[in-house]
Order: sequence, then structure tokens, then C-alpha cells
Amino acid sequence: MHTISNIEIKNKRVLVRVDFNVPLNAQFEVADTTRIRAALPTLKYILNQGGSLVLMSHLGRPKTGPNTKYSLKHIVPCLEALLEHKIQFVEDCISGDAFEITKSLKPGNVILLENLRFYAQEERGDVDFAKQLSRHGDIYINDAFGTAHREHASTAVIARFFNTAHKALGLLMSAEVESISKVLNFAEKPLTAIIGGAKVSDKILIIQQLMNRAQHIIIGGGMAFTFIKAMGGATGASLCEKDRLDTALELINLAKQKGVQLHLPSDACIADAFDQNANTQLVSSFEIPDLWMGLDIGPKSMDAFAKVIQNSKTILWNGPMGVFEMSAFETGTRVIAEAIVKATQAGAYSLIGGGDSVAAINKYQLSSMVSYVSTGGGALLEFIEQGTLPGVDAINFQS
Ligand code: AMP
Repeated sequence: MHTISNIEIKNKRVLVRVDFNVPLNAQFEVADTTRIRAALPTLKYILNQGGSLVLMSHLGRPKTGPNTKYSLKHIVPCLEALLEHKIQFVEDCISGDAFEITKSLKPGNVILLENLRFYAQEERGDVDFAKQLSRHGDIYINDAFGTAHREHASTAVIARFFNTAHKALGLLMSAEVESISKVLNFAEKPLTAIIGGAKVSDKILIIQQLMNRAQHIIIGGGMAFTFIKAMGGATGASLCEKDRLDTALELINLAKQKGVQLHLPSDACIADAFDQNANTQLVSSFEIPDLWMGLDIGPKSMDAFAKVIQNSKTILWNGPMGVFEMSAFETGTRVIAEAIVKATQAGAYSLIGGGDSVAAINKYQLSSMVSYVSTGGGALLEFIEQGTLPGVDAINFQS
């Protein structure tokens, strides 16, 4: 892997693609600092090595050019506080003024360029736009794991304007790639993948890929009911993708062919409404009465899944076991999170990734007790599906 530690930084202008696509509140203040904090190690490393910083990112999805609602100027106070450093904001990422400012930076200067997506060329991966951006730095560092699955101008195309000695992955990107690699390429067996969430259709490719690597695949959440229905179970009013029943059967057969143990929930906590205060019962997940819906796995499934997890040496978790946002249906997700922590304490490597399982592990304040919590939802899933990402390839494989 080509990481920042291989690069001579002193007195260099370092152009860093970060992921500062953070949520803002009604007062345009940063509502969640996770992504900014995740970039800090790379930024501090560059400053400590005697480089200057030119930071570039997107924010939101501005459709038609500049729009103050999506201006990165809103994040300056938060970034200054977290980095403990003065930042100069530049209002247009490729204006003459911008190039004038970045032409003669001194070590320790920090520049933040305006939202890259104010130019449609960014998402189009426009080569000329990428070339212009490349003029802002002597060195290009990609630390934006959250957008590494996009082949955009600043995330991938730009890398062709820097040779190997002048581009690298940042510390966050390196940690993410290393963590996935530990699960996909160097997993100590048994490897257990826990896949939950709402829909099978979102997770087909990742389940197929994991069949080549995992010894156990645990399926929970709403998506389990498509499998259960395909096997002839009665799923009542539970989430079920009727157009994916064949896919579910194909996955069950693939697991048999590959010798992968596929674990489905044997029991469920069902409710008579999608509501925290609904009436509930525990039943077999294959015998759900009409009008009732499964909103969490039941205690037998929790026990069975926890046993598999505790006997694993490598664990990947993506997607909750139930509607964990409602306390009435969060137990399965919490028990799985706790089982992963226990396994980690016993020496297993655990990677938690994908929006809702990250939200869950944070909700239970267990994120510091697992091996790695990924910052990239879509990027992580695509990495598992494809085995690599455009943003990573652009650094590792282009000269
Ligand atoms: P995903 O984004 O596909 O990982 O799905 C996450 C969402 O799935 C969460 O908002 C959960 O509330 C929801 N979910 C999990 N289990 C169920 C279920 N049994 N029925 C309905 N929604 C569910």
C-alpha cells in the first residue's frame, strides 16, 4: 500500500482530498464532527512534517453551481477548533485568486477550498478540471474514504497528474484499507459475516462475495424474511421482497455449494404495528400470523447467533438485526453488538461498517471495544463487492 509515510513532505504544498461532507444544523453549524475528526491525524501529520495544506472536499449535493447553503465556509470554525490552527478559506476552488494563494504557501499554512461540487465537472470526473485542481499542490493525498468508491475528478482522476513519489493514501484511508484487507484477504478463520438491515436487494452482491471467504453468514433484520418466505415460511406483514425470492434461494444454494453455514433467525419478536408501543409476541420466524410483522430477532436466535460470533476469529458486521431505532425492537442488535465485543476481547478481529451498524455500535457506546469502525458506508460495501475502489487504485496502480 502506498501510504503517506513513504512521502517526503517537508516544505511541500500538500493537496489533501478530505471527506468534510458533514451534516449541518439549522444555524449552519457542524452537527456531527466524526468525519472532520477522522481526517485530523493526516492533517496534523503533514503540518508536523513541515508541509502546508490545501484541503478540498464536497459538501452535500448542490445541483446547479454555487449555493451558500452548501458552502464549506460553514465548517471553518469547527475545523479551526479541532485542528487548533488558523485556516484560510478560498471562495472558488479554481479561480485565479485561489491559484495565487496556493502558489506560494509557507509551511504551516492551511487553505480550505470551496465545495468542489459547485463545479459539475467534479462528479463527471472531468480531466481538465482535475488537472486544474492538481496545480494547488506538489503532493496529492487522498484521505476521503467516504467517497473513494466514486471516480470523481478530485478522488481518482487527479492522481494521474502526480507520480508515485508525489501521491499517497492518507492515514484514514490506509487504516480503512488495512482493516478491510484483514477481513477479506488475511482473515483468521472462522470468519463470520453478520448482515442485517432492511433489504436483500441492497446486499446481494456483498453476500455473494462473502460466500467466497466466510465460514458463517448470519442474516438478520428485515431482509431475513425474504429468505424465510423463499423457504416456505409464513412471514405475515413482515418486510419481504417478493421479487427477490429466487435470489434468496440462489444464495441459500450457493452457501450449500460453498460449504458456508448460513444462519437465519429461528424466532422473531413480532408486532401488530410498526410502532414502539405496538402489541408484541415471540414466535417462530417461519410462523408469523397475518397482519403481524417481525421487527426483531427472538431470544433463541440471539443465543444461536451469539454462539457463532463468540467462536469466530474474524467478524464483519453490516446492518442491524431489527428496528433498533425503537427500544422495543433493539434487543437483537444490542445482543449482537455485545457478542462482537466479547469475541474481540477474546482475540477476534472485528470490523463494523455501513451506516446503521455504526449508528448501533455508537448508540450502545461500544465502538471503542471493537477492532475497527469504518467511516465509509457505501465505500466499504463497494470495497467488499469489488475487492478495491477507484480512489485506492488511482494511488496504488497509476505511475
Ligand atoms: P439498511 O440501511 O439496509 O442496513 O437497513 C437499516 C434499516 O433497516 C434500519 O433503519 C432498521 O430499522 C431497518 N430494519 C431492520 N430490521 C427490520 C425489520 N425487521 N423490519 C423493518 N425494518 C427493519
